[in-house]
Amino acid sequence: MIEKIYLDCPHPFDTYLDRLTNNIIIFYDNQLKILEFNQGFKKAVNIPEKEIYNKSLDNIFTIDSMELISFSADQNYNKTNLELDQSITIKKVEREYICHTFKLENFYCLIGEDTGSEDEEVLNKISKLNNELSSITRELSKKNMKLEKANQRIKELSRRDPLTGLYNRRAFMEYFEKQLAQFRRHSHLLSLIITDIDDFKEINDSYGHSAGDDVLEELGQLLAQETRQEDMAARVGGEEFAILLVKTDKENASKYAERVRQKLKNLKFKSIPESITLSFGIAEARTEDDLDGIYKRSDKALYKAKEAGKDRIEIID
Ligand code: GH3
Ligand code: MG
Ligand code: MG
Repeated sequence: MIEKIYLDCPHPFDTYLDRLTNNIIIFYDNQLKILEFNQGFKKAVNIPEKEIYNKSLDNIFTIDSMELISFSADQNYNKTNLELDQSITIKKVEREYICHTFKLENFYCLIGEDTGSEDEEVLNKISKLNNELSSITRELSKKNMKLEKANQRIKELSRRDPLTGLYNRRAFMEYFEKQLAQFRRHSHLLSLIITDIDDFKEINDSYGHSAGDDVLEELGQLLAQETRQEDMAARVGGEEFAILLVKTDKENASKYAERVRQKLKNLKFKSIPESITLSFGIAEARTEDDLDGIYKRSDKALYKAKEAGKDRIEIID
């Protein structure tokens, strides 16, 4: 606290000097011993207040100490740039002051103006924080991309049947509705095949449910292989599959079914010694059709194929 004894002036003035926290004010004697100082100086150094009084100014500044007490005969004022010794500053950074030194009657006074190194410090901090922020933002956008991929993967999995890897009923019906809308708009052809494994119950009964699962899996692979990108094969029931063929008439749909039927005859399953057969029902979309209408016709055709002795293809006009 700067006390009145050093300045013969009214009280508010020394209080004001004391509270000039951006500037340092130090009173010292001709031995450079610190007599008094303001809050600004206290704030700038990392020394307990009591110990400051034992310090000498040449411990505080990196200077030729004589500068602080030598004044020319006609002038009681000097101006110089001083740096606080790094070892005593709060943040261990260089802090430079424009120092005005005055020779008063029995002591000296030093007023140091901060040259703005603190601003630089703040700017450095802001730029460091900015760098950290952009690296966090980069990390975040990487993680978002990963999350986006994971979400897409989850969405894709939710459209698949886990056993065969084919699309499930829900995904099939969605695609079917879309293709039916296209068919209505552009009146290109659209065919639906429903196929069902013949006597599958016997396979399960003879070789076990797990062998039956293997058969379903391998049949799924065959159907996937035989289906074009724009078409869709799905497992729509236990041992029942649907295949939607776009821009395809019922004759070509029948060719597709026949190809699968033939390939199946030569397919060797890993878990059962015999081959299996499929029955197929085919219907082509009509202009007045809704999804239910064409589905029912395919199903009816499938029923006909079963009735007629299985392992065959039936078409409903
Ligand atoms: P059909 O020729 O008339 O179609 O005779 P089918 O024996 O194939 O038909 P049915 O409806 O009598 O039996 C279907 C069998 O399919 C019974 C059921 O246990 C089996 N099944 C359905 N889903 C699965 C499955 O996920 N895994 C296995 N292993 N079997 C299944
Ligand atoms: Mg069956
Ligand atoms: Mg069935």
